[in-house]
Amino acid sequence: MAEPSTLLLALLFLAVAAGWVLGRGASGRDDEVDQTPPSQYYLGLNFLLDGEQESALKAFSEALAVNAETFETHITFGSLLRKRGEVDNAIKIHQSLLSRTKLPDAQKNQAHLELAKDFIAAGLLDRAEQLLKDLIDLSEEHEADAKVLLLDVFEASRDWAQARRLGESQLKTALAATVSPTSKAKADKIKARLANYCCEAAEDLEAKKSWALAREEAAEGLRWDDTSIWPHLIMARIDVEEGALKQAFDRLLSAATVAPSRIPEFIDVFRTVCDALDYRSRLIPLVSGFLGDRDDPQLRALLAEEYLAEGRDAEALEIIVEGLDHKPTSALLEKALDLMSEQVSRPEVIKAARKLSAKQSTYLCGVCGFHGPSFYWQCPGCKNWDTLYRPAR
Ligand SMILES: [Zn+2]
Repeated sequence: MAEPSTLLLALLFLAVAAGWVLGRGASGRDDEVDQTPPSQYYLGLNFLLDGEQESALKAFSEALAVNAETFETHITFGSLLRKRGEVDNAIKIHQSLLSRTKLPDAQKNQAHLELAKDFIAAGLLDRAEQLLKDLIDLSEEHEADAKVLLLDVFEASRDWAQARRLGESQLKTALAATVSPTSKAKADKIKARLANYCCEAAEDLEAKKSWALAREEAAEGLRWDDTSIWPHLIMARIDVEEGALKQAFDRLLSAATVAPSRIPEFIDVFRTVCDALDYRSRLIPLVSGFLGDRDDPQLRALLAEEYLAEGRDAEALEIIVEGLDHKPTSALLEKALDLMSEQVSRPEVIKAARKLSAKQSTYLCGVCGFHGPSFYWQCPGCKNWDTLYRPAR
């Protein structure tokens, strides 16, 4: 477990003091409240001065009496600990709140929800799932929040069947609401999520070579969201497995037309299909056309590769040099130097360009900034869907 930071302890120290002052303020209404700070408070202070942060944390937590006035302080402190990665301590705080029989049900339910978040953060998904299912039964007020978290649990455990059932029930609720631009946007968001669940299930089946079932799942994904290219890519791969190459080509062509920026994600299968059909030469005019619409360094690099595959090295270099002139990136520079390697007398120049290009992440999330070398439909950082893109590098 991470050592609690001094700042965190200072915050808790203040929280205890604030809690005690609030408790005193409440004493006019409730004579049972003690007029002096609890002894644990002084004990905690001593631990803090002695540098024993763990013990200080425990003492402060115990010193902060739980009542209706200090409840929010406990909740805030618990969630602060969780966000700092000190999940064990957050769990202790929220479990201690749940053990107070005198707390009103609404506050207990809130603590219940926080504890579920702690379990998710700790990777204890089974326990989080049970807590959230209980909370959905117990509290109408927290039902929507609990369902959102439960979806996170199903996604993290890759339980797409349960995720879909829950998503469909959320969609039903959204559609039952009064029609407004907000409710429509919400319903569309749920439908896109349902499409992603179908695609995830389809890819799991694809890995087991259950082609027919995988195709059914992908087709259902498309029914939920006909703007997504993911189902087309899955179905194209299945087409290839089943020998329906022309059908695969048509699907990939329409995916490329809908989302040219995603071509690098399926260029390998696209090239395989084109080679098998003897259509490879069609890729040059296709990619050139997209590049004409939008100067994308990734597409430019792909186009250069296609020229190279046809032995048209001079045109490949020309297209890269043009890119370096308009929108230079380290990847294009590396490609140019590779092509000119015979003319570059110092090999360390080429090595340096390679290093520079490799140092930069291939993918970046537009929402949370997660970056890495592999593509994911769901961002591993923020769990949003379809937010990873290839930055110009
Ligand atoms: Zn993200």
